[in-house]
Amino acid sequence: MGEGRPESVERLVEELGRLPGVGRRTAERLADHLVRAGTEEAMALAIAIRDVKKAVRPCSLCGNFAEADPCALCTDDRRDRALVCVVSSVKDLLSLERAGVWKGVYHVLGGRVAPLEGTGPEDLRLGSLVERVRGGGLREVVLATDSDAEGDMTAHHVARALSGLGVRVTRLSRGIPAGSSVEFASPATLGEALEGRREV
Ligand SMILES: [Zn+2]
Repeated sequence: MGEGRPESVERLVEELGRLPGVGRRTAERLADHLVRAGTEEAMALAIAIRDVKKAVRPCSLCGNFAEADPCALCTDDRRDRALVCVVSSVKDLLSLERAGVWKGVYHVLGGRVAPLEGTGPEDLRLGSLVERVRGGGLREVVLATDSDAEGDMTAHHVARALSGLGVRVTRLSRGIPAGSSVEFASPATLGEALEGRREV
């Protein structure tokens, strides 16, 4: 139990403490704020969470989180749908979108091959990528995984799954500094890495 907090507040502290980057101390501060806040302000947060969970789901084509299925990226006519950029996470997709350097569509793997974290190729959205390629009409699949050991392993597994399917498979150039991530790379770096992509 917390220091004399009512049980419902303690439960809120526990739930907030589950959020990434929120330690016990921060969770307590946030909970105490919500206890003091007006009902309307506090409920606005609860309602926003409920609405997101009701309306947002992964796009069945690319895996991006969206309210529409297929998502707005997949149905955007200004994009070249024959070019697919494979990313580990929606965060990486958003990073590329913010940089404004990719004119094709995406495929979110939903993870990376990381044996130390217990994730293997079977945990990735690889089957649906293979299906997309088998469906035809794709010119190139660009592997935009991080340039660290896990990113290399992930790219390797994706390339192997796609080999022999008749699609050109490339990977971002080493423009992204070794050990660095797509999520935190600068727009200029991402642009250069895409520009200099090479066949794998
Ligand atoms: Zn989509």
